[in-house]
Amino acid sequence: MNGESLRAGEKLVSPAYIRQGKEARRSHEQLIRLLLEKGKCPPDAWDESTIELFLQELAVMDSNNFLGNCGVGEREGRVASGMVSRRHYRLIHGIGRSGDISAVQPKAAGSSLLNKLTNSVMLDILKMAGVQSVTSCFVVPMATGMSLTLCFLTLRHKRPKAKYIIWPRIDQKSCFKSMITAGFEPVVIENVLEGDELRTDLEAIESKIQELGAENILCIHSTTSCFAPRVPDRLEELAVICAKHSIPHIVNNAYGVQSSKCMHLIQQGARVGRIDAFVQSLDKNFMVPVGGAVIAGFNDAFLQEISKMYPGRASASPSLDVLITLLSLGAKGYKDLLKERKETYTYLSNELKKLAKRNNERLLETPHNPISLALSLGNLSAQSGAAVTQLGSMLFTRQVSGARVVPLGTSQTINGYVFKGFMSHSNNYPCAYLNAASAIGIKKQDVDLFIKRLDKCLKLCAEKASAVEEPGCTQQTKGDDVSELAQDLGDHLQVEAVEGDLFT
Ligand SMILES: *Cc1c(COP(=O)(O)O)cnc(C)c1O
Repeated sequence: MNGESLRAGEKLVSPAYIRQGKEARRSHEQLIRLLLEKGKCPPDAWDESTIELFLQELAVMDSNNFLGNCGVGEREGRVASGMVSRRHYRLIHGIGRSGDISAVQPKAAGSSLLNKLTNSVMLDILKMAGVQSVTSCFVVPMATGMSLTLCFLTLRHKRPKAKYIIWPRIDQKSCFKSMITAGFEPVVIENVLEGDELRTDLEAIESKIQELGAENILCIHSTTSCFAPRVPDRLEELAVICAKHSIPHIVNNAYGVQSSKCMHLIQQGARVGRIDAFVQSLDKNFMVPVGGAVIAGFNDAFLQEISKMYPGRASASPSLDVLITLLSLGAKGYKDLLKERKETYTYLSNELKKLAKRNNERLLETPHNPISLALSLGNLSAQSGAAVTQLGSMLFTRQVSGARVVPLGTSQTINGYVFKGFMSHSNNYPCAYLNAASAIGIKKQDVDLFIKRLDKCLKLCAEKASAVEEPGCTQQTKGDDVSELAQDLGDHLQVEAVEGDLFT
């Protein structure tokens, strides 16, 4: 309500009360003004009423919500369902213009403002999370893999002769496919084993550059966040190699924003060498639905080129979701989540160490991986690869999600490329293992339940193995353990599935 409306209101309700109402309203508006002026994530969490007021103000600035609008174009932001309209806070026009995802859309001042603001708040968060010298970024409504593809396609125009991408191996399909989809030939660099850790083979990369010729290489595509026992790539050294040979460098930072270590690596890499862009998932780092990523970098002109590669307009949903999320958390709330994640990592690590001891296994030593941990599965693996895989399905049946078992010697062909030892980032990693991660949003309670269930599963497996030798003892343990687990999980558990899973 503006001044005139409030004055009109004073004829209906005592001016003293109206004045108080006006003050109350002003405190919401102050927050909105500060956000627009500074373009930074507010330190304190916003109340939902402020966020809703703000979004309503943005929406009425878009032409689809003009009261007197008559649309005669082919895209007028008409939405048939009221539910759909509400789901998007009446912001229907999306973001960007046909030639640039970061451009202002004349039909939609509110959506354009939303887009610019989201990118600006995101830049602030990336700095806060550890990449202080990042200069630009933008949110794209595509997940990480496709966003990497967009970066590679942008580089293509700058390096017409290049057809190879040098890629220190990481066994995750979407980052591999991001290169294939862009039409390039990945040159897979095997990792080197140092202790338990798998690390970047810098010498192999140097000699590959000599062999292929720098001008034939589109870029080096490195990775920070990954499953242990692989650890983040040696970004500083890679960035120096890229600078030396004038080869672009794209970093897959899929879930690295949540880790100060991953962010520090990017900051250092950019300081001592060359990083052209780094790409991160919105859902993995900011607890929003899957569907968005942030492309960031240190050179505004290059980032603009990437945003101009995006053909057409784009969905505003990922931008809207992440802006709402950051306003609801505030910078402090986000920092608290990061802190909690880090503490839970230490807790998970300690609990896994104890569990390993109880079960005659070992927590692999991977101090350079700040998010993911790996527990050896030597006993199961000694039985069979199938026993390792079965542990995975046992955990899944017990509603443990995200734990990943890696048996030895799985081979997989992706787009004609054969990966020996697939999942383990290595042709022949010495042992089978299980991964668990402390990712943003995890609670101590998740760890406790996981450890309890894993412990039980490992015991069941061990019992099952000895039962094979002495067939007499199976029946007894079976009933007891299943009912105990059923209690554990409440009524959701399908006991039959557990039995079938365990004893077939
Ligand atoms: C999640 C992830 C990706 C990308 O997956 P999207 O589904 O495209 O977001 C790529 N690389 C790694 C290491 C990942 O963890």
